[in-house]
This record gives sequence, structure tokens and C-alpha cells, in this order.
Amino acid sequence: MSAGDAPVATSDWQGATRVVRAGLPHKTAGTPYLPGPVFAAPYHTPGDPAQSPYTYGRFHNPSWTQYEAALGELEGGTCLLFPSGMAATTAVLATMVPPGGTLIMPQECYYTTRVIASQPFDGAWFAAQHINVVMAPTAGDGLRRALDAHAANGVSMLWLESPTNPGLDACDIAALARAAHELGALVVVDNTTATPLLQQPLALGADLCVVSDTKAMTGHADLVLGHVAARNPLHIESLRLWRTRMGVIPGPMEAWLAHRSLGTLHVRLMQQCRSAMAIAEFLSGCAPVRGVRYPGLPSDPSYAIASKQMQAFGCVVSFELASADAAARFFAHAQLVYEATSFGGLHTSAERRARWGGDAVPEGFVRMSVGLEDVHDLIADLTTALAAV
Ligand code: PLP
Repeated sequence: MSAGDAPVATSDWQGATRVVRAGLPHKTAGTPYLPGPVFAAPYHTPGDPAQSPYTYGRFHNPSWTQYEAALGELEGGTCLLFPSGMAATTAVLATMVPPGGTLIMPQECYYTTRVIASQPFDGAWFAAQHINVVMAPTAGDGLRRALDAHAANGVSMLWLESPTNPGLDACDIAALARAAHELGALVVVDNTTATPLLQQPLALGADLCVVSDTKAMTGHADLVLGHVAARNPLHIESLRLWRTRMGVIPGPMEAWLAHRSLGTLHVRLMQQCRSAMAIAEFLSGCAPVRGVRYPGLPSDPSYAIASKQMQAFGCVVSFELASADAAARFFAHAQLVYEATSFGGLHTSAERRARWGGDAVPEGFVRMSVGLEDVHDLIADLTTALAAV
């Protein structure tokens, strides 16, 4: 088997037809498949506003509606669009953890999510609400033990991220959702690293999931966007109120671009997963590389759980080089690897995560996002760059 033919988790990819057709309007002669973005602040609204489907640009927009309908088909729930993944995350945390409640979250979930929940300035909302934020490890039974430890006083929300960014730890979403529901907690999954194509948190038992559509969902490194999906439409209505009143609204152009990009999600991400697997295997055999993490490697600590709940394992591969200097030499000699943050796009990129601070990773820890270049070219490029390390 050649590098580019490495297997994905299952031979049967789900969802290709769905992503191509999701949210598209009924066939009407003379209209486009995907109507263009609607730019409007006020809409004609004669008489009773309830009779107008659209009234004012902060309340609703046809381009949001179209993309939200598409997302709903993928997620198996009701969806609401936000101007970024963090806007989606903040809306959920701020509206669904009651004052005095307990929020359990992974200690290695996305940095900014931890920041808004736990640091005095950015977490002013939580401090003012006397919310008890409990951090526990994703791998092993840390989150389960945190639930048990707080069972007596009640838990308002269990926040999960699987696989985590950037460490790629996985947790058993279905088992944790069951345990949290026994305590009456809401279960939210940040599904950004997987996307609904690879992992379906609502079907696994989560109440809500949040996704940064900035990443693989849109995949072209040209916009910032996020969404929330919920099983209970009432949750979406309270989030809609937050979005409307706070004015945290996405742009119509971004919504339309995202919808256009969604059609290629399956073909992009399938290829990226295949290449990521091949690159993870290649890196595992490279002398200057240690600690390769990819949930699709049978030797990876996340493999058992990830293969149970993911259709394939995503485009992010993490590994360690000996030091920050070694990583700098790697980036200086890699022609095809953009040194940049973010992941999920069609261009291969990577970064030394410790340069930002905030993640408990070694100085030489590199998070790589595998793109759509020919995997043989990528492996040749990595071979050259690693030789310089
Ligand atoms: N969740 C995860 C796992 C992320 O990696 C990110 C961004 O990197 C976010 C949420 C936030 O998304 P955005 O940058 O679109 O606000």
C-alpha cells in the first residue's frame, strides 16, 4: 500500500452526498443552486413585523438561514451560526451555566476556552456568577472522577473536546454523556478537530456541540466563523436571543462562503485524513521525532476511543522535536509547511505551540495540519526538513 492509500477508520465514508446537497433550496427554474449572499440591514417590513420573514440584519439573514439549515442536516440537530468559534463557545457557556453552578471541563481543551472560563479578567462573567470551574484531564478517567466528585452538589455542565487541540487526547463521549445526564448536567462537545463529518456528538448523547467553522468545515483559510448545534431547539432559541441582543452576528459573506465550501468537505477531509495517517506513520519512524500523536495510529493512546466514535481521525498530527531551536530549523527547511496557527485548511501548516504559551506542551512540540498537497511531496519535504534538524 502506498503512503497516499493509508486506510481510514472505516472503508465506508458517510456523508458525501449530504455535504454536497445540504441546505440547498428546492429546484426553481432560473435560480442558482446556492443563492448568493444577502447584504441587508433593514428589510421592507410593512405593518405587522411578524408577517415579514426578515426585518432587520441583526435578527436574521437568509444566508445564515441557508447555512444553518445545511449544518442542521450534518449535525442531526438545530444549528445557529456565530461570527467565530469563540463567539459560539461564549454564548453556550454564558447562557447555560447558571449562577453558582459547576462547570467541569478538560484541562487541555482549546486554550481560549479555558481562559474565558478560568482567568480573572477574561473570566469576569464566571467570577461574577460564582461559577465553580473544575478542570480535569481528558485522557483516562479524570473527567469521570470529576463528575463523581461533584455528584453530591450537582453539576450544571460537562464540557468535552475530543480529540483535544493540540494534544489529540480523546474521551468517550457516549459514556461521559450518560454519566453527566445522571447528574442532570448538560453535555457540550467542542467538535472542532473532528467536524460533524467525522464525529457526531449529538448522536453520541451530547446536548449541544460547538464547532469553529474557521477550520476544516470551511477549509480555505479565508474566514472566521462558528456554530452551535443542539438536540433541543429551545436551547437554540435562548442562544438566538443572546446572539440578537449581544449583536454577535456573522457576516452574510462568511456564511455564504462557508456554505459554498461545505460541498467539498467530504472530499477535502477524506484526503487530508488519509495523508495525515501516512504522515503520522512516516514521522513515527523518523529519528529526530518523538512523541508522535495521531488518533488513527493503533499505537496512539486515543486510538481505542477514537476508532469507536469517529469515522476517521482528522487532519492534525502532533509531534515533538528536541527543542525550540530544532523546531526553528525544521520550519526553516520545510518548503511546503506554512508556519502558521489554525488547522483544517487545504494548505499544510504547522506551528510550535509553546511559542504562544498556555498549553502544557514541551518547547519542541509541533502541531501540524495536513493539507491537500500530494502526500508524497509532503513526505519528501518533511524528510528534507527533518534532516536539517
Ligand atoms: N475550539 C477549538 C478546538 C479551536 O481549536 C478553536 C480555534 O483554534 C476554537 C474553538 C475557536 O475558534 P475560532 O478561532 O473560530 O474562534
